[in-house]
Order: sequence, then C-alpha cells, then structure tokens
Amino acid sequence: MEEHPAPKVYLTVPCYNEASILRDSMRTLLAKLDTLQTAGLASAESAVLCIDDGSADDTWAIIADAHRQAPERVLGIKLAANCGHQKALLAGLMKAKDEADCAISIDADLQDDIGVLDDFLREYRLGVDIVYGVRSDRSSDSLGKRLSAEGFYHFMAFMGAKVVFNHADYRLMSRRALQALSEYPEVNLFLRGIVPMIGLRQSIVSYVRKPTARKTHYTLKKMLMLAWDGVSSFSIRPIRMISLLGLVIMVVNFLLILWYLHIKWIGAAVPGWTTLVMLVLALSSFQLLGIGLIGEYIGKVYLEVKRRPRYIAEDVLGGKPPTP
Ligand code: UDP
Ligand code: MG
Repeated sequence: MEEHPAPKVYLTVPCYNEASILRDSMRTLLAKLDTLQTAGLASAESAVLCIDDGSADDTWAIIADAHRQAPERVLGIKLAANCGHQKALLAGLMKAKDEADCAISIDADLQDDIGVLDDFLREYRLGVDIVYGVRSDRSSDSLGKRLSAEGFYHFMAFMGAKVVFNHADYRLMSRRALQALSEYPEVNLFLRGIVPMIGLRQSIVSYVRKPTARKTHYTLKKMLMLAWDGVSSFSIRPIRMISLLGLVIMVVNFLLILWYLHIKWIGAAVPGWTTLVMLVLALSSFQLLGIGLIGEYIGKVYLEVKRRPRYIAEDVLGGKPPTP
C-alpha cells in the first residue's frame, strides 16, 4: 500500500486553568514530538497547539513563554472567554485544518497515554482519516464514574446516536476530516457524536488511561449537561417516545371511557374517586414531561438559530487565527 509522507501534526490541547501542570505537560509533549519526528512519523513543522479557554490563572502566560522559546513548535490561541472544552477544542481543530495535515486532540493533564501517538500516526500514514483512542481499561476510574460512563454510552447508542464506546476526545483527524467537521455548523457541540457521522476511513487504537494529577473540570453537572447535549443534539427519539406514549395513553383512555359507560348503562356506577385521581395525576405528569421535553428541543432550536459565534479568538501565537 502507498504510504502518506510524514504529516505536519498539530497536537491540539485545550487548556482551562492548567497553570499547575501545563509546563510539565508541554515539556512531555515537545519531547514526544521530537521522538515522533526522529521516527519519521511527524514532519519537522509539527507543533503543539494550546488553546487557552479563558483561564483565570497563568495558563496563557505559560503558553506565551513556551512560544517565545520555540516559536515554530508551540502555537497558541487565547479565547476571549471560557467557552467549554468542546468549543476550545474546536477552535484548535479549525486552526489545524488550515495549517496542518492532521490534528491530534489531547487533554492538558495528559491522562491519555501519549505512547500510542505512534500508532495514531501509523494509521494515518496508511490512509485512515479518523483514529479514535479507545480506553481498554477503566480501572483508574472510580466505580461511580465507570458506571455512569458505561450507562452513558449505552444510553447514547439506544437513543440512536453513533458513538464509539469508551472513546473520549483523544483522536486523530486528517485535514479532510477536519474540513468535513467544519461543515457542521451547530453551536451545541458534541464532537464525540458528530465525528463518527463524518464517515471517511476510521479506525481505533486502544490505550489505558492514567488517573489525573489534579481535580477534574468535569463536575457531575457538566457531565450530565454533556450527556443531554449528546442525546438531544443527535436524536429526536425522546420526543418521539413521548408522542408514542401519548398515543398509547389515548387508546387506553378510550377503552376506559367505553368501560365506564358500560358500567353506567348497567347501573353499577360507583363513585370513582380513586380512578379519577390516579388518571389526573398520571396524565398531568405525562403532559408536563412532554411539554418540558419539547421545551428542551425548542430551546436548542433557539440557541442554534441565533448563530452566535462558538468562540472568539482574542490572541493568536504563530500562524493564522482559527476560522469561525
Ligand atoms: N477544559 C477546557 N475548558 C473547560 C473545561 C476543561 O478547555 O471549560 C479542558 C481542560 O483543560 C482539559 C480538558 O478540557 O485539557 C479536559 O478536562 P478534564 O481533564 O478536567 O476532564 P476529565 O479528564 O476529567 O474528563
Ligand atoms: Mg482529565
């Protein structure tokens, strides 16, 4: 098979309040980049691209410092505000799309084993456009996190979204894949759901994830929000299920009405207090649920139709700013 030449790679790192670990992470990544270049897997123009997601600490100063020391090897984007992991990552990927052959996204705490970067790039050189890092072992997670993650992937699949099990945002994307990604204009971004829809040639590399050296930025609330974004951005199944439920309830109600009429006609009507209360309660709760759910989707439509920018780059170190 014909192999691609060594690509220009951007290691794309979203950073939010990472001052405590960023210097170490940067050093590790640059050293890794060196070995990749020596091994002929990455070209000499490859770089680490850090996106400061509106940090309140010294994150940007650290990135700027690293850029000063190695202007070709460390690039930076400073977002004007905290936009969240997914959008920060997207800003980096959109810069990579214009300047590099491929991008590999990785978290700043380097929990994801950078040892498999070689495998990512070997896959790329065989012509694969999207390589997913998949965790083969979740023993570094707490039981709660493991169960919620497991439940999340199954729920997503059940809801009809295409997801790669046990894959977070550790992945390689070719320029072609990034170009395709840029055609998805949604503001409610859930990259793990969008990327598998792109198609092209995809493959998987397994690795073991390390425990983090600091507190996670993903609180339970953020995780639930991400899960709900995932479901509601990719599936109208929840709404369809409510409509279906409404239909079933309607049929049951109709039969009940016939039954009550029948009882009345044979003159055996009893004061149906319990039935009445139960029906009212059940129906009103379903109605509220349905309205709430529809509201969620209308909210999504509202957020999308505003066409707000997903991120605003305040400053860029090296190269061009990311296209919106
Ligand atoms: N992150 C970000 N913006 C945010 C929150 C997090 O750019 O608002 C970055 C963070 O710096 C890290 C990555 O997203 O590089 C993942 O965050 P974290 O490691 O806390 O998540 P976890 O590994 O616990 O899922
Ligand atoms: Mg982490």
